[in-house]
Formats: sequence, structure tokens, C-alpha cells
Amino acid sequence: MAAVSSATESNVDVIVVGAGFGGLYALHRFRQQGLSVRVFEAAPEVGGTWYYNRYPGARCDVESLDYCYSFSDELQQEWTWTEKYATQSEILDYINWVADKLDLRAGITFNTRVVSAVLDEDSMRWTIATDNGETVVARFVVMATGPLSSPLTPDIPGLETFGGPIYHTAHWPHEGVDFTGKRVGVIGTGSSGVQSIPLIAEQAAQLVVFQRSPNYSVPAGNRPLTAEEIAHAKATYGERRRLSWRSGGGSPHVAHPKLTMQASPEERRAAFEERWQLGGVLFSKTFADQMIDIEANEEARKFYEGKIRAVIDDPEVAELLIPNDHPIGTKRICTDTNYFQTFNRSNVTLVSVRKTPIESIDESGVATSEVHYDLDALVLATGFDAMTGTLAKIDIVGRGGQKLVDDWSHGPRTYLGLGVDGFPNLFLVSGPGAPAVLANMVLHAEAHIQWISEAIVYLDKHGYAAMEATSAAVDAWVTECNQRADATLFPKANSWYVGANVPGKPRVFMLFIGGFATYLDICAEVADAGYKGFALLKAP
Ligand code: FAD
Ligand code: NAP
Repeated sequence: MAAVSSATESNVDVIVVGAGFGGLYALHRFRQQGLSVRVFEAAPEVGGTWYYNRYPGARCDVESLDYCYSFSDELQQEWTWTEKYATQSEILDYINWVADKLDLRAGITFNTRVVSAVLDEDSMRWTIATDNGETVVARFVVMATGPLSSPLTPDIPGLETFGGPIYHTAHWPHEGVDFTGKRVGVIGTGSSGVQSIPLIAEQAAQLVVFQRSPNYSVPAGNRPLTAEEIAHAKATYGERRRLSWRSGGGSPHVAHPKLTMQASPEERRAAFEERWQLGGVLFSKTFADQMIDIEANEEARKFYEGKIRAVIDDPEVAELLIPNDHPIGTKRICTDTNYFQTFNRSNVTLVSVRKTPIESIDESGVATSEVHYDLDALVLATGFDAMTGTLAKIDIVGRGGQKLVDDWSHGPRTYLGLGVDGFPNLFLVSGPGAPAVLANMVLHAEAHIQWISEAIVYLDKHGYAAMEATSAAVDAWVTECNQRADATLFPKANSWYVGANVPGKPRVFMLFIGGFATYLDICAEVADAGYKGFALLKAP
């Protein structure tokens, strides 16, 4: 039975923070099971990532047909994606369409930031406070606050003195930006920079790209979906999703059956070529051992290097653009359209700020150790305080006044990425300790919400008031996540997965690397065993 909770109730079963893919499904699912729910969203609208990141070229890098809700076949059948990788605006249209269809808006309080969440141990209730002064009490709190929702602005001397406009890719103006005739500087060459640079270059009079670390990027091969492809996908969605749920990354593609060096050179090349044609980030999963065995990884890297050198005219520019400081795939592979070809244009300059660091910014532009670049506009594609940054902005206070930020001062500690010891009935969605950004995050969010929803049903059915990860379970999970990461090549990179992009952030691999299906199996085993590793608590 669906409960109808108004957006004014001050005492509810569940508070959900965030109205992106995760929070919206949480609202729908909890309502369906008869719980009263309040959702708080800092933005004026739904969408999360896809509400904010409106920079030119913003698209998903998981195929559109997979990067959408699977929980309702009606939704899958009714919505029709137009391109292999949907644009930000199409994804946002989709999220808005779902919100309307499931009547979700009435349950969301927009323009409202949750500033604190405090546990009352006597009543085993959470009180959340918002930036507009409201307080609401709930049995459960679900943090669907997003792993990539706290944009980072670099600490460059004089940034605030720049005379022209400064745009962060994650806070792009809704009306768009016209760079025609302008001298533009872009700082940052991660996925956001790599997607936006080619389009900015087409418009701007001059573009200067300030690159600190070169990144691996594989062409998206984006194109319109044909009517036949859409009909086929809709007719076979069940199987497509089944494969995705059983996969390492939440999409229906499987690695080559042999290990890299077991395949003959011809087979190897053909497998890499097939993945190259598939496009984008999945290149890192061509062979199952590619992210574990450095020799295997080197084969992928050599194939990659050949492809990229072939499209860059100037060998010196190619040398700067091809990474040599981390194995391929140990940072998220970017998914681009004409990124490397952009550096063949006469109006584009690549500046390696490793060789010539940015020293300062002044009213008229950016000064490196060698050159002052006069600029009219500046784009910051400088990423996020990922996984923990957004949670750290909320004053989350658990047992005995313990604060989550203090608990995590040496790195995040969770059990399954879902629960934290000392914080009963507080659940994280796509947080640290889960595969999160290593998987298709729409399915990942669905999996988390389903698990939390079933846990609440279990608690209610068995007369429990709360569940709390035990310290032993958290310690064991943190150890398991570290051990699994250490058995791969991932820790070799200074990536945001390990917090390397945020000065002073503890260096810990923040994700569960064992694969999406393996992770789901572990979560299911825990639930089947009566929530092993969680203490189940009767009402105080
Ligand atoms: P979000 O979409 O980040 O939503 C969280 C919401 O919580 C936000 O709206 C925020 O305003 C709100 N919030 C946070 N704190 C508070 C607070 N204190 N009070 C109130 N509200 C709060 N993943 C993929 O799997 N495939 C992709 O192709 C892909 N592409 C991406 C492209 C970009 C540009 C970026 C930045 C990320 C991409 N991701 C991708 C990751 C993406 O973040 C997830 O896929 C997904 O959209 C996350 O959904 P979410 O609901 O968990 O979080
Ligand atoms: P990012 O990968 O962290 O890239 C940030 C870039 O800014 C890096 O090149 C970084 O250099 C550079 N940078 C940061 N501070 C700098 C400074 N002070 N001076 C010079 N350069 C600086 O962030 P992102 O590109 O926004 O992507 C983050 C994640 O969001 C992705 O990995 C992906 O998961 C997701 N995303 C996906 C897509 C998609 O294709 N669908 C698009 C965008 C984002 P260093 O590498 O040297 O730190």
C-alpha cells in the first residue's frame, strides 16, 4: 500500500536526503511499502548530478539503455532514448518524466539543505535540521547525497581577481554560455574537461587547456540509436538487465573469455578493437585480468597508445597527452568525442602545468612559470571532493555525540557501504565501501534502496526498532575493501578514488573493487543470514 506523506510532516518513518537517481527511487519505493517519507533537496529541482552538470558535451558514459531505472518495466518500455550516450538534457528530461509519472515532487522539499542529523539514543529517532530552520524527526535516515556532488575549486593564488567569468563544469549556467570570439582557458582534463573541451574549442576564438595529468580517454562512438536497436533492446530488456545485474560493472557486456596473455596476439588485438568500437570506459574491462596484472594492462596500454598517436598531428603534443604515470583504467577512463583531434586545431593550445605550473591568476588571465595567457573566460573542470565531501558537510551525530566526520578522519569506514557503527538506522546510498562509481550507478542506487527497503520490512516484521553495523563488521569490511584493492593495480594511481585530488584528504581506496555482482551477492548473504554484522535492536 502506498502511503501519502505530505511535505510538511515533522515526524516520519524515513527522511531521504537528495533527489537524484538514488533519492527519487527511495521516495517511490518507501512510499510503495507504506512508509511515510520526506525528501530534502538542496536544488530547486530533481536530477542531482544531471541538474547541475550542464557543461557543453555532458553525457553519460554508460549506455543510455542501461543508465536508467530497471525497477519498472513500464518505465523501460515507455521511455525511448535517442542516442547511444544520452546528453545531460535528455537524462534530466528522463528524470523529470519519471518524477512526474510517479508523482514524486509532492514528497520533496526543494531549495532546502539538510545541515545536521542527530541521533536521540533514548527514542532511537533521528532529528534532522535544515538551512531554513525546519526540524523533522524520523526512524530512518537515508543519505542519497551523491558521491560526486561537492565540486572542487582549485586553490590558485589570485583566482578571485580574474576579470572575466569563471564557470565550474558542475555549476554550469542554465542559460548556457556563448564563447564565440572569446579567449577561453580550461583547467582540468578529467571526464568533464575531456567532454567539454572539443565543444568549447569549436566556439572559442582561442582555447588554452591547462593540463596537470593527462588522462586515458576512449572515443564514445556516440550515434543516434536506430529504430531497430530500440525495438530489439525493448524486446530483450529482461535479458539485458539480467546480464547487467550479474556483471562486474552493471552493464550487459562481458569480458573476453581468455586472460590477456592466454589469447594469441591476433585474438588480443581483435578483442581490444571490439571494445574500442564499443566505446568509452568499458575498454578497461576487455580482459578480466587487465586491472590486476601489469603485463596484461601493458598490452591494453600499448593498443591504446597506438590508437591515440594516430589521431594527433604533432608528436610533441601527443607525448604530453598520453599518460605515463598510471596503468590504464586505474583512473576512470574518460569517454570522449574528438578530444585528441581537438589539439590539432590551430586555435587550441595545450599547456602542461606539470612542466610549467600555474603560478597565479590575475585580472587578465593565467600565469604559468613561463607564459602569461590573456583570457576572457575561465572554465574549471577541476572535479569533486568525491565519496565523502558531501556527507562531511552535514553534521551527522550518532551514539554518545560521536560525529561521522571524526569517525572518518583517517578515511571512511562503513559496513557494505550501507551502514556505520555508532549510527543506527542511518543508511548511505552509493557511499564509500560500495562499488558506487565503479558500477552503473542507476542500478547501484536501485540495489541499495531495495536492500534498505527490505531491511526495514524485516525490522518491522520482527519487532526491532533499529539496526546498527557492528564495529567488528565495519573493521572487517574496511580490511576486505583494502585487501581487494591492494590485489589490483588501482592503488598505483593518484586518483580521486583514493582521495588524491583533495589536499590533506586521507589516502584510502574508498570503493569496493570486487565487482558489482559479487558485491550484490555479499549484500544478499548478509540479509539472508538475518542481517549478519548488524546488531538488531529492540525499542528502547
Ligand atoms: P546525485 O545525483 O549527486 O544527487 C544527490 C543530491 O543530493 C543532489 O541533488 C544534491 O543537491 C543533494 N544533496 C546533497 N547534500 C544535500 C543536503 N545536505 N541537503 C539536501 N540535499 C542535498 N555514473 C554512471 O554510472 N554513469 C555515468 O555515465 C555517469 N556520468 C556522470 C557524469 C557527470 C558529469 C558526473 C558528475 C557524474 C556522473 N556519474 C555517472 C555519477 C553520477 O553521480 C551518478 O550516476 C548518479 O547520477 C548519482 O545519483 P545520486 O542520486 O546518488 O546522487
Ligand atoms: P576529475 O576526474 O577529478 O578531473 C579533474 C581535473 O582537474 C583533473 O585533470 C585534475 O588534475 C585537474 N585539476 C584539479 N585541480 C587542479 C589544479 N589546481 N590545477 C590544475 N589542474 C587541476 O573530475 P571530473 O572530470 O569532473 O570527473 C569526476 C568524475 O565524474 C569522473 O571520474 C566520472 O566518474 C564522473 N564524470 C563522468 C562523466 C561521463 O563521461 N559521463 C563526465 C564527467 C564526470 P589531476 O588529475 O592532476 O588531479
